[in-house]
Parts: sequence; C-alpha cells; structure tokens
Amino acid sequence: MICNELWPHRLSVRTPGFQPGKRGSTPLGAAMKVLGIETSCDETAVAVLEIEDINNVKVLSNIVSSQVKLHAPYGGVVPNLAAREHTKNIAHVFEQALTTAGISDFEKEIDLITVTSGPGLGPALLVGITFAKTIAWKYNKPLIGTNHLKGHVYSNWLNEDFNAGSVVFPILNLVVSGGHTELVLMKNYEDFELVGETMDDAAGEAFDKVARLLGLGYPGGPAISKIAESGNRERFPLPRPMLHSKNFNFSYSGLKTAVLYLLRDLKEQGAEIDDQTKADIAASFQEAAIDVLVKKTIQAAKEYQAAAVFLSGGVSASAVLREKLKSATEDIGLRYSRPPMAYTTDNATMIAIAGYINHKYEKTDGSWQSVHMNANLGFKVVQGS
Ligand code: ADP
Ligand code: MG
Repeated sequence: MICNELWPHRLSVRTPGFQPGKRGSTPLGAAMKVLGIETSCDETAVAVLEIEDINNVKVLSNIVSSQVKLHAPYGGVVPNLAAREHTKNIAHVFEQALTTAGISDFEKEIDLITVTSGPGLGPALLVGITFAKTIAWKYNKPLIGTNHLKGHVYSNWLNEDFNAGSVVFPILNLVVSGGHTELVLMKNYEDFELVGETMDDAAGEAFDKVARLLGLGYPGGPAISKIAESGNRERFPLPRPMLHSKNFNFSYSGLKTAVLYLLRDLKEQGAEIDDQTKADIAASFQEAAIDVLVKKTIQAAKEYQAAAVFLSGGVSASAVLREKLKSATEDIGLRYSRPPMAYTTDNATMIAIAGYINHKYEKTDGSWQSVHMNANLGFKVVQGS
C-alpha cells in the first residue's frame, strides 16, 4: 500500500573512474536536452530539461499526472492500480512534455533519456522502464536508470537560492517521503552513503495514517498541516521515538499507535472528537514527528561534520519542517537548502537531473540493455565517521 518495502539488501554505488570536477567550473560540454521519466509510485511524470552544466539547468517542461484521487479510497497506493494508470497515461504525458518543451523532432533534439529504476513499486516502475527502453531503442539514445531518492536529493539543484557552483560537501540529506525517511551523506556528486533510516513506517506514511485516523482523507500530510495551523501542539504530549537512540535511525509506527490509543482513551472518557480536538491532535502529532526529524538530522550533521543540510521528499512540503530545519541548521552555522514547493513530491525533472549527473560523472555505458528495475534499490551504508 505504500511506495516501498523495507530494504532487505543494499547495493553499492559504483563510482569507477570518478573524478570530482573543480567546483564552479565543471567541464560538462555543450548543452544537452534530457528527457526524464518517473513512474515509481502514483505519479506519471515526464520532463524535458536543457542542461548546459550543473549550474545551468533549464526546465523546458515538467508534466505530472497524479493518481491521488484513484488511490484515495484505499488510504494508500495500490501497486497494480498504479501500474494500470501509468500504462494508460504515459504516452499522453510524454507527448505533452515534448509539446510543452517545443520538441518537434525527438531523434534530433533529445540527447539523453533517464528513468527511475528504483526504489518504488515494482509493477509501477516497470511501466516507466519499459517505455523508456522502447524509445531509447527506437531512437538509439543513451538511457540511464536513476535512483528515485537521488532524484529527491537533486531537486535541491532547482532551489531558486541555490548555486551549484558554490556547493560544499559533505551534504547531509534528510530525504523524507511517503515511502522513505533517510539520512544520506553526500560526499560528492554520485558519492552517497546511508547514515540512518526508518525501522518501520516512513514519516510521510505516519502523516497519512494519522490523517486517516482523524478522518481527514488521503494524502494526509497536507491535511494534517492545514488543520494543525489552528491546533494547540502542546495539548497532547506524544512520544518522540528513538530521539535518544545511539544511531541515526527513525521509527514512526509507535507514534502512529500513540495517536490511535489517544483517540481510543478520549472516546472512552466520553470526550467529543470535535474539530478543535482534531486540530490539537494533528498539531501535537506534527510537532512530535518533526521534532525527531530535525533533532536527528542535526545530530547526524554534527557527527559527520557536514557543511550543509539539504531537505527533500514529499514531506519537505511541510512549512513547519522547512522552517524548523532552516533555523536549526542556521543555529549551528551550516548551509541549508530545500526544494521549491513544486518539486517536493514526485516529478521527472529531478530524475532528469539525477540521470544527467550519473551519465556525466559515472560514465555508465548508457545502453538500454543495462537498465534494470530494482524495487529495493538503496545506498551503501556509511563506513565510520
Ligand atoms: P513517495 O515518493 O514515497 O510516494 P512523495 O515524495 O511523493 O512520496 O511524498 C508523498 C508524501 O508526502 C505523502 O506521505 C504525503 O502525506 C507527504 N506530504 C505532502 N505534503 C506534506 C505536508 N505538508 N506535511 C507533511 N507531509 C506531507
Ligand atoms: Mg518520492
């Protein structure tokens, strides 16, 4: 029902022959037109970008067809339904992305195709990958399979205040979405290591489940954020799971259960669950969920001597999280970035950037034959500090 399962095994990130470019003067050659395709969960998305180098990224089109309404009655994403919708929509979304970008001759104008190869829902991923392989084969174009979570990280390269030329490493990334809650250390382009992750539910998933308990519908994050604005975040003290654990992992299922028991106890006491009570529960839940995210991120940033903290993923749309993480990073003198709102949830623009960087730095062969779906694709685990 959600966009990932726990990862049973990890893949190493290969960096053969990788030579970090000089900051601000990455010699990446002439402008390329890059097509991105994303179908890992419930968004069918295609984008066309013109990329001169990592400092000069121009979005020519960014088309996203969301299936949120289709999955809403189930309170989460149903994999086979998602795949069926992707199959129905992908060619239309592709066509619209090309038209919006002013591409009339695909063969002549597009230089590189990129597609999410994992992590995500297997049946959904396969639709995008098969479509991408087919056009790469037909037009004889290089194809890059991209890690969806790297895509989220690279959505920061679209931040209006962001200057890729002055980017400093290492960057500690908090990637927080419906399927993932991860702390990922980025030592350079294409050099990612997993520092911590959720042991059970992802933070976004907890927002979705708590919203369901409160009868707020799906997706829950925006609904919780909205009613929390008029709620008292101190009315119901809720647990901060794993806040003091000795590692950088998270756990959100206990917090969700605490809300379940709180509602049960209130009902047993004969209390009315009116709109104000719901707002107070939402605000208290949001406070607890975000408190853990921010504190653990700051602890990890210190431990790994990060120069910057970047936020990304669907939950990065939360205004409270954006603000709290910003002020916490400023307090310890670190740089901070978050994606523009339009690029917080799943989109193909971020996949195009991630694929472009992979193509330039990792020197993968770019053949469609070497792109494979991996629903559990992950990062190598960090080695020491
Ligand atoms: P995934 O890739 O795992 O499907 P996305 O990156 O698309 O996830 O993010 C979707 C998640 O973001 C959902 O769980 C949704 O509830 C959450 N979300 C969206 N907006 C907010 C918000 N304002 N506050 C908290 N969570 C949010
Ligand atoms: Mg996502």
